[in-house]
Amino acid sequence: MYHTHLLGTSKRWPVGKIVCLGRNYSEHIKELGNAVPDKPVIFIKPSTSIIPDGGTVIIPDYSDDCHHEVELALLIGKSGKNISQATAMDHIAGYGVAIDLTLRDVQSAQKEKGLPWEIAKGFDTSCPLSDFVPADQVSDPHNLQLTLSVNEEIKQDGNSSLMMRSIPQIIEEMSAIFTLEEGDIILTGTPAGVSRVQSGDTMIAEIEQVGRIKVSVK
Ligand code: MG
Repeated sequence: MYHTHLLGTSKRWPVGKIVCLGRNYSEHIKELGNAVPDKPVIFIKPSTSIIPDGGTVIIPDYSDDCHHEVELALLIGKSGKNISQATAMDHIAGYGVAIDLTLRDVQSAQKEKGLPWEIAKGFDTSCPLSDFVPADQVSDPHNLQLTLSVNEEIKQDGNSSLMMRSIPQIIEEMSAIFTLEEGDIILTGTPAGVSRVQSGDTMIAEIEQVGRIKVSVK
């Protein structure tokens, strides 16, 4: 079982679930030709999808179009159900860097047929994840630069200020559906610039004040 590490502390939590938000940055919605959702687009990655910094992504053989999505990750440190926006930030123990790897060809086919996305989003190695910095060390999570490079070429370069749903709003909406438990992780969506990765590539994802991870593709 994968345990998250809260840096500078002895705290390690087993990861329960990873609850993810899709379509949270308008420029990314445009680049994929999706509609702006009135309700949040939510899906879950299993904890078995996590790999640490330095890990290797293995693209399943049923896809030929694996995309990177750099995302700000939230570590839940206090359980809750129906959390209000006013108290939402109290539930965050720390912030991390994640890559929501997505088999775009498979996801598109599933979308067309109205089928669930897990085979495109939840496969083993689909969630490279950093350690977490304690929440009080991040000055403003709604103003952080997120970047992702492939083979040292910058592909994604966006700011969390461009999120359409704020972090308290995301926690309120998700916790109305799922009880959020200590050790759960939330992914908050990706800015524009997603692109295909293939065997031999190296990705570096970085979020200011939060951290950096480097993973390779087998
Ligand atoms: Mg995503």
